[in-house]
Amino acid sequence: MDRSSTPQDSVQSSRISRSIVNSQLLISAAMLLFAVVVFAIQPDAFQEPLFFVSLLLVFVLTGVALITDWTPSRKPWAAVLPVLDILAIVGIREAQPQLGAGLLLVLPVIWLARNYGFVGAVGGVVLATLAIWVAWPFRGVQISITDFVGLVLLPLTFAFISTTTYATSRRSQSQRALLRQQAALVESALVRARKQERLLKEVLNAVEFGVIAFDDRGRATLRNNAHEQSLREFGAPHSAVIHPVIYEPDGTTVYSDSERPYARALAGEEFENLVYWVGSPGETRAAFSATARQTKNSDGHADGGVVVVRDVTVELEAVRARENLAASVSHELRTPLTSIIGFLELAVDAPELTSETRRMLDIAARNSERMLGLVTDLLQTASDKDGSLTLEISSCDIAELARQAVESSQLAAGQRELTVVTDIDRPAITNADPFRIRQVIDNLLSNAVKYNRTGGSITVAVGFSDDSVRVDVTDTGVGVSEADQVHLFDRFFRAGSARRSDVVGTGLGLGISRDIAKLHGGSLSVTSEVGVGSSFSLILPATTQETA
Ligand code: ADP
Repeated sequence: MDRSSTPQDSVQSSRISRSIVNSQLLISAAMLLFAVVVFAIQPDAFQEPLFFVSLLLVFVLTGVALITDWTPSRKPWAAVLPVLDILAIVGIREAQPQLGAGLLLVLPVIWLARNYGFVGAVGGVVLATLAIWVAWPFRGVQISITDFVGLVLLPLTFAFISTTTYATSRRSQSQRALLRQQAALVESALVRARKQERLLKEVLNAVEFGVIAFDDRGRATLRNNAHEQSLREFGAPHSAVIHPVIYEPDGTTVYSDSERPYARALAGEEFENLVYWVGSPGETRAAFSATARQTKNSDGHADGGVVVVRDVTVELEAVRARENLAASVSHELRTPLTSIIGFLELAVDAPELTSETRRMLDIAARNSERMLGLVTDLLQTASDKDGSLTLEISSCDIAELARQAVESSQLAAGQRELTVVTDIDRPAITNADPFRIRQVIDNLLSNAVKYNRTGGSITVAVGFSDDSVRVDVTDTGVGVSEADQVHLFDRFFRAGSARRSDVVGTGLGLGISRDIAKLHGGSLSVTSEVGVGSSFSLILPATTQETA
């Protein structure tokens, strides 16, 4: 059947051809040397027809070996060559016994053992031995003891060499097989790795965030399309890996070389959401947020890393727009509100008012005060975003501040039928800004009133723990879920329960309060359970010990 040949077939054919040709060439080379020596010492040996024909046969066989295309299917036929070589050598030996050509039989024996496995190894020895033994009687001479030794020793030598050759070739065959197997495994692992690399590249090029990977020597090994595009958009040179000039989050200060996110990542740092601006101020610009991770090799040594860059321009502009709006609206509202409150206070004092009108003016004044509080919070947040909150520290009694705050909250608490309990028995004197601390306690108390249930209670406790002054405001209100507690101090955050209720608020008070606590070197924290109540704790460092 005609079968088209595969690349593996041709590789195998050439291996077989090489082995056959080499074996036969070795025999013919040995034979040529032998012929040259014989020609030198006994030229009339060539007159002997058997000698000459046998010698010729070896060279003819070499020619056949050279011109034949030894496909795997023809390999068994190649065994004819060493068999005929054996006959030719025996012919030479018998023609000129004194020349000792029998030793040359070792060569075809080796060939058979190397190329035809166990059968070749045994067959070669048997054939060579038989050829010697069968040819002997034709000499027509008596067997002497030296001949007997040759008849036995020579086959024994063949057997030894054949066994060694067979064992060696088997070992090298199995080593070759093992190597082929390993090569196939490496090849398939390589194919898999290339496939994964292609897939990773596809994914990275499909995403919208920029990715730059680098190796342990700091060379960029990968840049995805999104990053390349942002480099091109801002006119970076073709060879640039990152934007040549970037600005700090304020948008105007140029990042120093060592502080640039990419430089920090190369130096082995890991960070999250480092913001930088690209594009000169006043021109088209974009803000990016960079996150860096380091990678390690299997020994745990640093192996490079990756920087992922996200375009946050829209996000930052939205935040800025909200802050600008809050700042300008609250600023515009404050002046007229202050004036309204002033005139309301004057109006309430007018003697000719009826009690009903006075009550209505009181309500208007209270609501205006509340509105002023909200507007003040808004304005403060807008101006505090760049850290401009300052403290005026003096020695003050936190217990007294808490007492005053409780007193002013009584009216609002009464309207909601709330009981305010105080647990303040001793002064708690420390260095702090009394105006700001009062602001914090007022905010906690006003929340405890706002988010309480009608008829509930509020406890305000002031005390010392270790080296700190502590104010706890506890209520029996709606409480805050654990998920919401995480964001409670974020600016503009309002818990789900507050958003759903009709309680007015901006979500700014707690953020400002925590900032004030932190500026004092203290903290503001919460524990809460939905439906049971909340407890807010303001902790300040005690610079002066409690006095009795
Ligand atoms: P505001 O009260 O103006 O909304 P705050 O920053 O003071 O802003 O409070 C943020 C949010 O925290 C509130 O909207 C409310 O959801 C929640 N919160 C604050 N205090 C309490 C409290 N005592 N009980 C339950 N929820 C509270």
